[in-house]
Amino acid sequence: MSAIGIRNEGMRIGGEIVFTDEAIPVHYPYTKEVVGYVPAGQAEHAHRAFEIAASYKSRLTRYERNQILQRAGELIGERHEYLARWLVLELGICHQHAIYETRRAQDVFQFAAAEALRDDGKVFSCDLTHNGKARKIFTTREPVNAISAITPFNHPLNMVSHKVAPSIASNNCMVCKPTELTPLTCLTLADILYEAGLPPEMFQVVTGWPQDIGDEMITNENIDIITFTGSVPVGKMIATKAAYKRQALELGGNDPLIVLNDLSYGDLDRAATIAVAGATGNSGQRCTAIKRILVQDSVADTFVPLALEKAKKIKFGDPQDPKTELGCVIHDKAAELFENRVYIAQKEGADILYHPGRQGALLPPIVVDKVPPDSELVREETFGPIIPIIRVPDNDDEVMRISNATKYGLSSGICTNDLNRAIAYINGLHVGTCNIWEQPGYRLEMSPFGGIKDSGNGVKEGVIEAMKFFTNVKTYSLPWP
Ligand code: NAD
Repeated sequence: MSAIGIRNEGMRIGGEIVFTDEAIPVHYPYTKEVVGYVPAGQAEHAHRAFEIAASYKSRLTRYERNQILQRAGELIGERHEYLARWLVLELGICHQHAIYETRRAQDVFQFAAAEALRDDGKVFSCDLTHNGKARKIFTTREPVNAISAITPFNHPLNMVSHKVAPSIASNNCMVCKPTELTPLTCLTLADILYEAGLPPEMFQVVTGWPQDIGDEMITNENIDIITFTGSVPVGKMIATKAAYKRQALELGGNDPLIVLNDLSYGDLDRAATIAVAGATGNSGQRCTAIKRILVQDSVADTFVPLALEKAKKIKFGDPQDPKTELGCVIHDKAAELFENRVYIAQKEGADILYHPGRQGALLPPIVVDKVPPDSELVREETFGPIIPIIRVPDNDDEVMRISNATKYGLSSGICTNDLNRAIAYINGLHVGTCNIWEQPGYRLEMSPFGGIKDSGNGVKEGVIEAMKFFTNVKTYSLPWP
């Protein structure tokens, strides 16, 4: 590890930096070294933060919010190397993937800055019915009091950005509990926001073990909205505990890339590039990573060597080396679990075509062909850079049936040049997003994003949808036409 100094961080509560006696260590997955500590906060810390959030009424104008968000985006841009370095150290992804994440976060803030200026209030004339009157009805959006944000380990900067930027744009106050695994970048982001001019009451960060602080993040009486991104079991537990509170639950995925049989050799090569990049980006730790490649039988023998060739070219290793194209997963245990699933698939009849060996959390891009569709490897969310190929019949209805036979429904990608077939898949897949000739993860940071079934409760994120979700619509009418 290159010398950077261990970070000893405090929580950010009401403008103060708060430490506790006990601290949680943060490990660099590549070497397992401790790179930082955050406080093991307790329920009382979250309680205090929500009290501050709920009693603060932001008076920031649209222009002021725009300026803060704009400046925060610029600061992320100016400090992208510093942010990327900490993303590498706390998450273990390679520097190239970390830089990509900083660019995405920058986009989130730029879009939120633009959206802050837009008033989406509506106007209805009342003289358009049988019993019409000379009046008008108007709508306006008001912030709620306090939002609880609970974020996952896999995008420590971008996931928090997707919560806080729309919260600021809509004049809300948010308390965020980042994951205990990768909490450091979130704290850097908080400081960037304060430097950009954000009142500290509008974004506070608490840290801690879920068993100590988790319940308070869900049940505190001052919380109006919970916005959670993470795993299915925790999401469902929150849904039970939060009861009447408004909730956005963005959960796991098991996204397919579907390669259809109308493709030429050149097209299959392009599909293989998408498949390998989509399965290995962010070390396969994206909710929308390609977790299953469904290839129709008549093109599979051509597609598989192309995917194999691309996987073999990936330079995996030291996450800090700027030339590295694939770093670690979050820890050894995760890497071991995913590797074991590959071996189980092998016992079930799959062929391992490439597995150059695992070193701790450094899991290579393992290529597995002929994976049975019900194998644990592709049935569960395998959150690593595995490239599992499932050969499927040349019958689109059957392919859709196989694709839909998962409890998840986040996103999908389809490779075809036949518009009729593309439309049939868009209509037939039970997912939140369908991208033709793109990775399932492709999105704009402001376009609606979110899954159905076990992947989420249907509430969309993306800057525009999140701003709507974070506000209450007030309707009023005036006696003028
Ligand atoms: P996780 O569910 O283990 O943890 C997520 C957050 O919940 C963390 O902050 C954690 O500390 C907190 N948490 C855990 N137990 C809690 C409790 N009892 N009370 C309150 N909070 C608790 O998820 P993870 O492993 O960090 O993240 C990976 C998962 O997130 C994957 O399933 C991935 O697909 C999903 N994800 C989904 C999206 C999406 O937009 N749908 C995006 C990114 C990640």
